Amino acid sequence: MQAGTTIFEHMSGLARAHGAVNLGQGFPDFGWPDAVLAAGADAILHGNNQYPPMRGLPELRAAVCAFYARRQGLALTPDQVIVTSGATEALAASIMAVAAADDEVILFAPAYDAYAPLVRRAGAVPVFVDLLPPDWQASAEAIAAAITPRTRAILLNTPHNPTGSIAGAAMLAAIAELAATHDLIIISDEVWEEVIVGAAPHASPFALAPARTIKIGSAGKLLALTGWKVGWVVAATALAERVAQVHQFLTFTTPPPLQVAVAAGLALPDAYFAATRARFVAARDRLVAALSAGGWRLLPAQGSYFVMADLTASGVTMRDRDFCEMAVASAGVAAIPLSAFMPDGGSDGGQTPFIRLCFAKSDAVLDAGAARLNAARTRP
Ligand code: PMP
Ligand code: GLN
Repeated sequence: MQAGTTIFEHMSGLARAHGAVNLGQGFPDFGWPDAVLAAGADAILHGNNQYPPMRGLPELRAAVCAFYARRQGLALTPDQVIVTSGATEALAASIMAVAAADDEVILFAPAYDAYAPLVRRAGAVPVFVDLLPPDWQASAEAIAAAITPRTRAILLNTPHNPTGSIAGAAMLAAIAELAATHDLIIISDEVWEEVIVGAAPHASPFALAPARTIKIGSAGKLLALTGWKVGWVVAATALAERVAQVHQFLTFTTPPPLQVAVAAGLALPDAYFAATRARFVAARDRLVAALSAGGWRLLPAQGSYFVMADLTASGVTMRDRDFCEMAVASAGVAAIPLSAFMPDGGSDGGQTPFIRLCFAKSDAVLDAGAARLNAARTRP
């Protein structure tokens, strides 16, 4: 892998080079609303294409408030919303707003690949707490043990990339309580909040600790338009102001035609979101059924586009990176090794026994990917 290249870039590049089915990088090949594309095209041709307000278009900030009121029962005002260039910028601005040189930020491992580098860019130190399989939770004791006088924030991701798990009620309550006791900010990356494929609903720590939680969302996942990079933070007014101070010198603004279109997307009826969710559930079920029939053992997925396969339980002796490199080059299918999300690359010689598969694909892609993975599983 080229130094400095993300695992997603690396695997998608190999998938293109080898003509492989790409179940690696998390992007869907269905699920976006045509009306939102039309609204974006119309806004480019007939709307404002010059700098919008730094905190985002008023109509999008109002749409974010209305969306969370309707879908999550949150009472928000537009001064609590800052529009950013994707959740990635929202994360960067939030981390830089609350942590500086030598401060500590608690991350849960496995962790989305951008978290630790962003914490380090802020001059702060990532401190990892393990999420334990099969349901990938952390105990109150484990989180408490990681807190020191230098801790400033806990960065949570639910639903969770890469494991597809969600933070349970006990873990959320522990985080809210510890944050209150130690005066910490909770940065809550909830980009997958609408991609729920299990029985449990999405739950946000914002509902438990509204004064100290920065809630992050992304139209990329909400509307299945990952390339658009329109995201936002939601926080108490004074906290949102601190994030805005960083945002104004990171990207300053986000393309206004896309903001107009995302506002239209957030106003889609509940029936739209229910139907999209049902399609992702069906896609997950199709991939899991095909792989299970081929001898793979998968972990339950509650949310996100991802399901984890357990190499050891599936009878594969290779570890994750070796298996993924082999599978993309020789079996024509790309997956993502869990070790890319581990602080030290994973405890087993820098590898782990888990791979991440993206199920947000049309039936033909899922069927081809599963057939190739089934063949790869039994390769000598
Ligand atoms: N956080 C998580 C947990 C993600 O999975 C992703 C993208 N898959 C992002 C942040 C980045 O979102 P965006 O593309 O909106 O920057
Ligand atoms: N978030 C996407 C994933 O987890 C990819 C993002 C990226 O390519 N940086 O697959």
